[in-house]
Amino acid sequence: MIVKLRYEPEELKLLRCLQGRMRLSPKDYSYFLNLEKGFSGEQQFDQLLEQSSEEWIILNDLLFDYSNTLFQIDSLLITGDCIYIFEVKNYEGDFYIDQDRWYTAPSKNEVKNPLLQLQRSESLLRRLLHELRVKTPLKALLIFINPEFHLYQAAMNLPAIFPAQLNRFLDTLKMKSQPATKNHFMLAEKLMSLHMKDIPYGRHFKYTFEELEKGVKCTSCGLFMSLLNKNNLKCGCGSIEKTEFAILRSVEEYKILFPEEKITTKSIHMFCNVLNSKRSTQKILSRQYQINGFGKLSYYEPF
Ligand SMILES: [Zn+2]
Repeated sequence: MIVKLRYEPEELKLLRCLQGRMRLSPKDYSYFLNLEKGFSGEQQFDQLLEQSSEEWIILNDLLFDYSNTLFQIDSLLITGDCIYIFEVKNYEGDFYIDQDRWYTAPSKNEVKNPLLQLQRSESLLRRLLHELRVKTPLKALLIFINPEFHLYQAAMNLPAIFPAQLNRFLDTLKMKSQPATKNHFMLAEKLMSLHMKDIPYGRHFKYTFEELEKGVKCTSCGLFMSLLNKNNLKCGCGSIEKTEFAILRSVEEYKILFPEEKITTKSIHMFCNVLNSKRSTQKILSRQYQINGFGKLSYYEPF
């Protein structure tokens, strides 16, 4: 059973909002694509793991601070006889290893050795578990989820599960593993209490309200929508969405982009840039939010 769900990383949420509203530098854009890809790979693995057994404990996306060192775990699986750390990689294409260094092929670009990250997390978690007097053995594995991934020159003892091995690995795990015990559930609770909720951002993106492109983004293609009729917006890709939903969706974007700012009719009307009158924006906001203050100083808050 899943004890801790995985959520979209805050940084990914922010970049999704910025994408299409400003030009991201090539570096930021590729960082964004990597985050998307990584998250999608983790979600795919979550699904496989979730379908596998009800008797195990799954904790997704953990962040610990152990002796002043931060470490993250993509997926932690607790069975009755072993605790597994899974580091999920959604690599695509051909890669090779040469003297402990990882490269893409044929371009020979060096990539971060994912094994080092895994070993670091393993070592820190092992110390943490030792401190908690947990005797269950710990095993760390790299999970390559993308069927289009291939790794040349990998040693047989590399702690990794490749796409073609994944189903067999999970089947074997199902057959051999013991159900988690009460003590393991207590351990899961303890780990949850140690998990750090606020992940410090590694990068900062600079932007102002003025410089962002205004509009309501289509959920299918990301382009800006236009007015179809009083109650609906349309997009060039053929999507149609109820105006109210689309505006409220954009309010959520505004909140992610400008967490410090108040939600006002003026700001949302300008941000969405799709309705003809401020009055229409106000109507939609007042159905979902409670108004505070008067006149020009009024703003909206959730009920
Ligand atoms: Zn569209």
